[in-house]
Amino acid sequence: MAVENVVIIGSGPAGWSAAIYAARAELRPLVFEGAITEENRINGTLPLGQLNLTTEVENYAGFPAGDLTAYLNAAIEPAARKLMPPHSGHGVSGPELMELMRQQAKNFGARVITDDIVKVDFQRHPFVLTASAGEVTQSQTVIVATGARANYLGLPSEEAYKNRGVSACAVCDGALPRFRNKPLLVIGGGDSAVEESTYLSKFASRVYLVHRRDQLRASKIMAQRAETNPKIEIVWNHVLDEVFGTDADGVTGVVLRGTDGGQTRKLAASGVFLAIGHTPNTAFLEGQLKLTDQNYIKLTTPFRTHTSVEGVFAAGDVADDYYRQAVTSAGAGCMAALDAERWLAAREH
Ligand SMILES: Cc1cc2nc3c(=O)[nH]c(=O)nc-3n(C[C@H](O)[C@H](O)[C@H](O)COP(=O)(O)OP(=O)(O)OC[C@H]3O[C@@H](n4cnc5c(N)ncnc54)[C@H](O)[C@@H]3O)c2cc1C
Repeated sequence: MAVENVVIIGSGPAGWSAAIYAARAELRPLVFEGAITEENRINGTLPLGQLNLTTEVENYAGFPAGDLTAYLNAAIEPAARKLMPPHSGHGVSGPELMELMRQQAKNFGARVITDDIVKVDFQRHPFVLTASAGEVTQSQTVIVATGARANYLGLPSEEAYKNRGVSACAVCDGALPRFRNKPLLVIGGGDSAVEESTYLSKFASRVYLVHRRDQLRASKIMAQRAETNPKIEIVWNHVLDEVFGTDADGVTGVVLRGTDGGQTRKLAASGVFLAIGHTPNTAFLEGQLKLTDQNYIKLTTPFRTHTSVEGVFAAGDVADDYYRQAVTSAGAGCMAALDAERWLAAREH
């Protein structure tokens, strides 16, 4: 069986950036971009990653607002272009950015398999990877870039208003015009819920931080930040019961349910931000790499993408519970490809 130089698992900004760098270094990378299955659709882990689930991307450097129709038509293969939604005319969307990254990787010779890796063996070298269709691949190095999925509550109304007022990323979406000077809701009670509320308070007319308990889980200093911010109102002992809205406006309000008596109350809101954590896509590793207590891949050397197994590198949100942005993931993908290239070069000499 032929042994690959680099296998990249994952198809978000980290995976494609790694593929672009590895392909330009003539390592002929093989990318497993994930499978198109109902399970991946429900989990939000279809190929092209988390950005493929959103609309406008205003903060990825290099894409100021503008009409990209001609560029998208010229840059992306017609077969893929045909399947994409029409361009908005005012800036790059998440799916467009991801198709551009995928295309760029393919242009340099990256090979792409549309399947999940379901099993790895990092105890032996070359490493052995098994895809869900049963295909077995051997590789000298592996870059894990499988991302982390945002947790949602699972309400049907929440699903119905995703991208129309429901989001799981305040830093990504909070500055969008639809949320400016409007009342917004944050669901959660930890540090990230406070951080998201504080961030949103810059744009919103009011932020309701809805927590199911009578005390925040956030650290004391973070909790104080929320409690003393005049724009943030904490709604204690409540959970989100329903999101409602209209086709024209998206989210217009929510129904909250009290946790102590079950009574409900309505609140007007133009946005609902879930801040109830992320689940890193690491289950398929089955303990073969060291993970953090939150199941993110543990990086073993500061400012490097090294993992607990030599020759296996990790990039993007799967190893980063802190920044969680497309541009930081892309940067880490570049680093992982350079680390893999140097690791291979060192072994050859
Ligand atoms: C609603 C929303 C809006 C966002 N908006 C922005 C924004 O405007 N700007 C910004 O910078 N960031 C934004 N983000 C964050 C950004 O999307 C992530 O930080 C980024 O996508 C992480 O990239 P990644 O490459 O690490 O992983 P991901 O994008 O998560 O991609 C990983 C992908 O790899 C594939 N995969 C997973 N497991 C396997 C496996 N076993 N085998 C094969 N393939 C697998 C899946 O397709 C998975 O989706 C947003 C996130 C969300 C949820």
